[in-house]
Amino acid sequence: MRALVKAHAEPGLWLQDVPEPTLGINDVLIKVDRTGICGTDLHIHSWDKWAQKTIPVPMVVGHEFVGDVVEVGSNVTGFAPGDVVSGEGHLVCGRCRNCMAGRRHLCAHTQGVGVNRPGAFAEYLVLPMTNVWHHGHGIERDVAAIFDPFGNAVHTALAFPVLGEDILITGAGPIGIMAAAVVRHAGARHVVITDVNPHRLELARRMNVTRAVDVRTERLPEVQRELGMDEGFDVGLEMSGNASALRDMLANMAHGGRIALLGIPPEEFAIDWNHVVFNMLTIRGIYGREMYETWYAMTVMVQSGLDVSPVITHRFGYEDHAEAFAAAASGEAGKVILHWSE
Ligand code: NAD
Ligand code: ZN
Repeated sequence: MRALVKAHAEPGLWLQDVPEPTLGINDVLIKVDRTGICGTDLHIHSWDKWAQKTIPVPMVVGHEFVGDVVEVGSNVTGFAPGDVVSGEGHLVCGRCRNCMAGRRHLCAHTQGVGVNRPGAFAEYLVLPMTNVWHHGHGIERDVAAIFDPFGNAVHTALAFPVLGEDILITGAGPIGIMAAAVVRHAGARHVVITDVNPHRLELARRMNVTRAVDVRTERLPEVQRELGMDEGFDVGLEMSGNASALRDMLANMAHGGRIALLGIPPEEFAIDWNHVVFNMLTIRGIYGREMYETWYAMTVMVQSGLDVSPVITHRFGYEDHAEAFAAAASGEAGKVILHWSE
């Protein structure tokens, strides 16, 4: 089969013929239809320090996908050829304390599809049935292909109650933009999103945010005054991984405010802990999605009118992967989709 492979320990990805994955008794074989390019894939492509110490070579990469079941192992129930599915990209151990308690998203031994084991940028993918998600009615395939990052957005956005609250989102990347749509759908009052990239801010405006703020030229205290807010933001969603974005957030939260941190900082940085202590803030780290409550929440929100499709800005055939990766890395795109079937 054709697949995008991290074939050499150097920048790049290579389209190669590789053997089809073999099906175990508990596995589902999926014909991949569409895949999304994630920031993680860009790190693997550019072969930064994180990728060098994490990614085995050679390996098929990619983890955001939608496809069709073609075959199931002899132990598998509940899936049949023709089912439209995506996969939870985190494989959990099933045996640690959290897994045994049903808190699988807190597993301490997570393995990542396309990170620690072969991925979805290929014509076929095999996953254990415990990681396969059956799509509900009315989920269009492009949106189904990005359920993984959409799930990051939902898990972060719903970490704290948002009904009637004022929300600050730092980072208008694809995940920040989807989170804005989610908190809007979930009944937030003001949804303020920040970035330093005008293309991203323009995309965010299409999601019906209250204000899309370029922090190079505008300051959050002024935005708060303009909106008639006098106590600060109730909920913060950090989705940039940028130190000054988090510092800005900490300085603009209401007393008792709650922050969910999804953005991954490239290195350690200091914050003013006085904001956390004296303003009695809660800070919670978020990784991945809840299995499978987040997947359920995504489905029912789409079925009840949430539309995240404007975040998808580019579509390419898999042969044009180089252009697709260039678009995703340019900072001018939202989500970039690769098509694997004709
Ligand atoms: P992205 O890199 O496309 O978006 C980040 C955005 O932050 C960019 O648009 C960038 O211009 C903006 N930014 C940079 N400096 C800023 C500043 N000072 N203030 C405001 N915005 C600023 O990333 P994404 O794919 O949308 O993902 C968002 C973040 O979440 C990334 O850090 C990513 O690594 C992380 N992530 C975490 C998980 C997890 O499970 N915790 C999963 C996926 C992604
Ligand atoms: Zn576990």
